[in-house]
Order: sequence, then structure tokens, then C-alpha cells
Amino acid sequence: MQRYFGRILKKAISLDEEDKFHLLKVMRARKGEEIEVVADEKLYLCEITSIKPLLITAKKEIKENNELPNYVILIASLLKGDKIDLVLQKATELGVSEVILLTSERTVVKVRAHQSDLKLGRYQRILREAACQSKRLRIPLIQNIIDFSRIDEIDAQAKFIAYEGVKGSVSTFNKRLAAVKPGKRIAIIIGPEGGFTEAEVHYAKNNGFLPVGLGNRILRAETASMYALSVIANRLEDK
Ligand code: SAH
Repeated sequence: MQRYFGRILKKAISLDEEDKFHLLKVMRARKGEEIEVVADEKLYLCEITSIKPLLITAKKEIKENNELPNYVILIASLLKGDKIDLVLQKATELGVSEVILLTSERTVVKVRAHQSDLKLGRYQRILREAACQSKRLRIPLIQNIIDFSRIDEIDAQAKFIAYEGVKGSVSTFNKRLAAVKPGKRIAIIIGPEGGFTEAEVHYAKNNGFLPVGLGNRILRAETASMYALSVIANRLEDK
């Protein structure tokens, strides 16, 4: 069944504009049809009681929670081309709560091009679509681009920086994740195509970020995000 995001007032559901368009124009919904709507992070089985005007009624709440037991923040460096789009989509499927885009010393893309409202709108659309598709109760937040020097402001109890300079076993990452209590915030930084400088890793370390390896191979930045989030989701959901 199609899932949409909206708001609930008593039993009346109103959909977000984009979802309304999707329901009416793309899915060509009809009166009497049932849909799932997420409102206030709760899932409702709903019926379309009228098309013009669009009226949707919540029939019952469905108890279901596909969210991770922890708030997970991905701090992803800006990447060339459309690679961030892919990162956003996959990160949502893997349960991320928030994405913060980052510029660092070796960032090669023009930051300006990523800062427009148009881009942000596009990013939000990707997150929303992926959240619907992966049956989430939450659309991940996306934050404005920050510079690496501001990572000290990131509020999390378990903080990691993926660094290929950490050789050998991946157990540092796994062990630290195993010790994180449910509800605590987790953050992980992934570098740009050219990686981080030693000075940056040092700065991150001084600010409480644990350098962790993601296996013995060098991954592309977008793969590294997916790998890290897969490991995090796997560990958290296995508790
Ligand atoms: N500097 C490297 C590549 C960087 S890969 C080079 O050019 O050889 C891009 C980012 O992905 C890195 O900054 C890091 O955050 C992450 N990454 C890739 N492979 C990794 C690994 N094996 N362990 C930890 N992090 C990795």
C-alpha cells in the first residue's frame, strides 16, 4: 500500500502538498481507496472519502515502528556531480535521522551550487520519497552545509570519523557501537573524494570523534556512507 506523509486533526488527515499531488495526479486515487498516512510519527490506515475536495479519514492507527533505536546523524562531505543524491536516498533507506553536509580542506565541489534553496528543496524531496518507499515514520532532517571547523558543535554521545588511515580490524567501530545505549545520539563523519588531512582527523579526535576503519579496502565516499550506516543499523537492531 502507498504511504504518504501528512497531519492529523481529530480523524481528518491532510496531506503535504507534494504527497497530495502524487496521490491525485500520479496514482490517480479514487474514492473509497485505502492508503497509509504517517502523521506525527504515527501510522494510520486511512480511507479516501472524497476526491473533490480531497477528504481523507483515519480508520485506525497501525502499530508499527521501523525507526532505529538511536538518533543517527550522517555528516557527509559534499561530493562531485549528483553523488549526494544517492547518499541521501540510501542513507534514508538505512534509517538515518539527520544528514549534515560538510565542506573540508579537500572538498572539490563549488559550495555555492549546493547552497541554493533549489538544491535544498531537491534534497528534501529525495529524503521524503525514500522515507515513503522504505516505510519510515520519519523523514530525515537535512542541515545546511557546515565547515569542518564546526564539527565541535555536533551533539552526540557516540561520535565517529571514518578514516582509511585506521588500518586493520573493524572491531573498534563494532565495539563502540555495541556499548551505545538505546536513545543515545550517534554521529559519523565521512570524507570527500580526496579524504581528510591528518590535521583534520586530529581535530576531530580532539573533539571526541573516534577514528574508525571501514574494512581493508578504500571505498568511494558514497560507498563509505552506505557501509557505515549499514554497520550502524545492523548493530543497533541486533540488540
Ligand atoms: N584519501 C583516499 C580516499 C578517500 S575515500 C584516497 O584518495 O586514497 C573517501 C572517504 O571515505 C574517506 O575520507 C573516509 O571517510 C571514507 N573511507 C573510504 N574507505 C574507508 C576505509 N577503508 N576506512 C575508513 N573510511 C573509509
